[in-house]
Amino acid sequence: MSRIVVVEDESAIAELIAINLRHAGHEVTLAASAEQAQRAIDAVLPDLVVLDWMLPGQSGLALARQWRASERTRELPIIMLTARGEESDKVAGLDAGADDYIAKPFSTNELMARIRAVLRRKAPEALEDQVEVAGLRLDPSTRRISRRTAQGDIDLKMGPTEFRLLHFLMTHPERVHSRAQLLDQVWGDHVFVEERTVDVHIRRLRCALEPSGHDSLVQTVRGSGYRFSTQQESAAPVR
Ligand code: CA
Repeated sequence: MSRIVVVEDESAIAELIAINLRHAGHEVTLAASAEQAQRAIDAVLPDLVVLDWMLPGQSGLALARQWRASERTRELPIIMLTARGEESDKVAGLDAGADDYIAKPFSTNELMARIRAVLRRKAPEALEDQVEVAGLRLDPSTRRISRRTAQGDIDLKMGPTEFRLLHFLMTHPERVHSRAQLLDQVWGDHVFVEERTVDVHIRRLRCALEPSGHDSLVQTVRGSGYRFSTQQESAAPVR
């Protein structure tokens, strides 16, 4: 499941895309103008934006440039839609920072395939690939977390938010993530969710990891946020 914002002022096309995306299990937000799109993205950072070039007021092209210039949205995956299929348009769209470009009229199958491809490229953590760090294994397809031992796997239990948080941390190890970044990446929301929510779920995650001793990998970086690391914090006792 990915969060996708569809920016398109022609409601028939917007609805058609939304129906197909929802059918594929995605969460869809519709925006009919650049302004609405910006508001949607300010509220919740999506996994991907389908962005029509021709919008009333500010164009999709200008909006894509604006997002690429802002730190929060620099990596936001964008697929541009346009009624004009000329090569020069395609180049302009990609130059503005779009990850892919599709000309109208398009088949919904083609659009869905392009969306899958961009999501796969941009968000490896959205994939169903297993991740393993220091004997801790997370399998997104079965939603199973286990610790490998010589006697076999031992399952660890945790809630869905802790699971998403751990998945993000394991696929982005050895980096410090601020609470705002974690809210954006794991909750998709840095505006309406309080930052201390992160602390609550980090605490629950550590509890869930305690039976296998992997709780020490979830490290607090004072004044900055959290890090998932196999390196011990300096001055911390080595387990
Ligand atoms: Ca349009």
